[in-house]
Amino acid sequence: MKYLILVADGMADNPLDELDGRTPLEAASTPNLDAIARKGAGGYLRTIPSGMGPGSDIANLSILGYDPRTCYTGRGPLEAAAMGVELGSGEMAFRCNLITEREGVIEDYSAGHISSSEAAELMEALNKRFDLGRFYSGVSYRNIFVTTVLSGIESTPPHDVMGGRIEEHLIRGSGPMVRRLNEMILESRKVLEAHPVNLERRRRGLRPANMIWLWGEGVPPELESFERKHGLRGGVISAVDLVKGIAIYAGMTVLDVPGATGLVDTNWEGKAEQAISGLETLDLIYIHVEAIDEASHAGDVELKVRAIEEMDRRLLGRLLDRLSFECRLAVLPDHYTPLSLRTHTAQPVPFVISPAKAGKRLRCYSEAEIKAKGRLGLKEGQELMRLLTSSSL
Ligand SMILES: [Zn+2]
Repeated sequence: MKYLILVADGMADNPLDELDGRTPLEAASTPNLDAIARKGAGGYLRTIPSGMGPGSDIANLSILGYDPRTCYTGRGPLEAAAMGVELGSGEMAFRCNLITEREGVIEDYSAGHISSSEAAELMEALNKRFDLGRFYSGVSYRNIFVTTVLSGIESTPPHDVMGGRIEEHLIRGSGPMVRRLNEMILESRKVLEAHPVNLERRRRGLRPANMIWLWGEGVPPELESFERKHGLRGGVISAVDLVKGIAIYAGMTVLDVPGATGLVDTNWEGKAEQAISGLETLDLIYIHVEAIDEASHAGDVELKVRAIEEMDRRLLGRLLDRLSFECRLAVLPDHYTPLSLRTHTAQPVPFVISPAKAGKRLRCYSEAEIKAKGRLGLKEGQELMRLLTSSSL
């Protein structure tokens, strides 16, 4: 038996007036999701342990069978691994955003989605100016800063405090290194503001990347290998660095898909093809789809419905057409991203495992249908792998 897990980031939502009281999942035409649900068994999965933040990193760890309460160390080291940045012993990684600061407040956590090539030039300038650690350029505003391990500190994601005053949200903690890092953040303003990249951006009417923001810090997590844990060789398909980072620490194979963007223009068919060819040599493929979450953060109802439909038709439809061997699927979101809030929430998510033995049948894949008829009930995140591979299901 082979296995597929399809994670639709942020897909679950609440009923909306704009959709006549339906959720985006109910409003979208999803013949393939519904067909899977009719042959399967459903339930609700607690992917975010109580007391933890509703992040994709935590949720994806849970789904893969790991306990985030014991193994989660931060987002920085996961993204660093996906970027090929190695951490030495005694080192930790921060996510280093390039942000736009204006009059003492965080105007834009993404510096106008600065290009990767511009970001690389700015990271180089920062490495020349500061010696508290090393800057690595990633994709757009998402960069990495590696420094010595600091304990007992707290940092703030810049997207959570847009419009907030810089000095109220700097790194909290004690000791000279915390002070020096905060001084570096403030001083980065001078280095970056005058940099030719930003002079050119201002000239073109774009937001300058005139400050760095450090957050999501952590040491490398220690994950038992996925193969040892579950007895299955696994592969991961995702456009998102933090999901790839989990795969790397879990010893799973990262399968890259050209044209996977994390947006609705992603290479949906390419993901399906890559999954099919991955299953020829691996036992389980984990496909993560980001586009639906991006539409949710943008608060775009129509785009969210369309992204769900594209996934259903172009990814799932293609997969079901091409699967020529016995394969069991799990389909679920990693967390809710309600359009009304434009951010993640921590409540359990609806899941379906298919095929499953006869029993109470679902008519379709939706939040309400699975709540009403999902015979698997409420499960903890780490139980999904056991259910997926259970012969008695
Ligand atoms: Zn999100």
